[in-house]
Amino acid sequence: MHNKTISQLAQGLRNREFSSVELTQAFLTRIKQHQDLNAYITVTEEQALQAAQAADARLAQGDAELLTGIPMAHKDIFCTLGVKTSCGSKMLDNFIAPYNATVVEKLNQAGAVMLGKLNMDEFAMGSSNETSFYGAVKNPWDTGKVPGGSSGGSAAAVAAQLAVCATGTDTGGSIRQPAALCGITGLKPTYGRVSRFGMIAYASSLDQGGPMTRSAEDAAILLQAMAGFDPKDSTSANQPVPDYLADINQPLAGLTIGLPKEFFAEGLNADMAAVLETAIAEYQKLGASVKEISMPNLNLAIPAYYVIAPAECSANLSRFDGVRFGYRCENPADLTDLYVRSRGEAFGKEVKRRILMGTYALSAGYYDAYYLKAQKVRRLISEDFKKALSEVDVIMSPVTPSTAFGIGEKMADPIEMYLADIYTIAINLAGLPAMSVPAGFINGLPAGLQIIGNYFQEAKLLNIAHCYQQATDWHTLIPKNFE
Ligand code: GLN
Repeated sequence: MHNKTISQLAQGLRNREFSSVELTQAFLTRIKQHQDLNAYITVTEEQALQAAQAADARLAQGDAELLTGIPMAHKDIFCTLGVKTSCGSKMLDNFIAPYNATVVEKLNQAGAVMLGKLNMDEFAMGSSNETSFYGAVKNPWDTGKVPGGSSGGSAAAVAAQLAVCATGTDTGGSIRQPAALCGITGLKPTYGRVSRFGMIAYASSLDQGGPMTRSAEDAAILLQAMAGFDPKDSTSANQPVPDYLADINQPLAGLTIGLPKEFFAEGLNADMAAVLETAIAEYQKLGASVKEISMPNLNLAIPAYYVIAPAECSANLSRFDGVRFGYRCENPADLTDLYVRSRGEAFGKEVKRRILMGTYALSAGYYDAYYLKAQKVRRLISEDFKKALSEVDVIMSPVTPSTAFGIGEKMADPIEMYLADIYTIAINLAGLPAMSVPAGFINGLPAGLQIIGNYFQEAKLLNIAHCYQQATDWHTLIPKNFE
């Protein structure tokens, strides 16, 4: 029952092969069996069974949507009414959200069943899920390896079939990178496509929620329910949401794929290059043609991001002061002591590092030298993409420089960790949509292909990913012990 796509499950529910309560129960059992993966921070068993009952009633009345009765889970960055929303931090370990994020609300209305809240890097800062207050998540393909981050719990849960699908968020790669390392499909939508209301802010000009699923078709179904204008989010795009399934089978003949030479330069490891080559050859068989393009400013993406993202995070995280909500230290001597100790005791090392970098970059004497400069570089990177996407339909690249690395391997060296997002970060700076699609294995570990499109062309990306998934079976493979 658990090894099925959303549309197969929707069919099964309609044919009365099983009920949503039975399906939900099956997933709750699997979650218990595989607790050692540490994918979930909170399991909302009672609430899930109630939601499943309500979904069964809707199915019986014949007013169900595709997601009605489908068990899924949310990254613990999305506020969930009455349920702990920790953002992977000790700071919010006691925080029960008083409202639902718009994304959660929309999925509830579609009848999706929330199984619980998924582990993540603290405040979404990280590429390995090791910065979580709740401990590292394990990669189901090799439990000695990281699942990627920051949406590592989401990726591990979907890969191990502890949820049919999951939400994630992506500020610099956090949907695509863990999707690639766990062999699932992930989509970071255009900035503004999915509401950020109730999604705890890391870097507001970069953050974007999106679907993490086992196929492009499932991603289309999940995005359909997540996307849309939200008056509660001032950066939400007031653009109609197309039908993401309508053109998903469109033939790819005539498609032009751009390959940025900067992403395929010497730095790319030979095994990863071979995976990409095979994937691109498959696209050529499907009728696409390939063109080399150049994006000279791509190498500036990581330095620009690590000024802009920390700057925004230092402002966003200033609200966690031990006064209004969140962690408060014991017996503060005075107000300053309350601030200093509450923040000092509740934030982890990486979060503190980001706050320090950000406040430094924004300080009076350095604002022009760092923040303003980084914003100018951001514009140059966007211009590179604009030019490239006027010459080709989509851009393809690796998602990650390597497959999943060992737990503990990169924790001592933050720069090494930051480089894990070298192929994904530029896309957030430009605000473009991009997908990560399973494209092969290297020594038993999954590797991904990144597909980058123009603004609001999620439907096209889904079409391109789906056609590839019709011709290959990488996305159908399941890690041993999790069948
Ligand atoms: N690894 C990057 C960071 O730590 C991106 C994380 C994300 O996309 N949330 O900032």
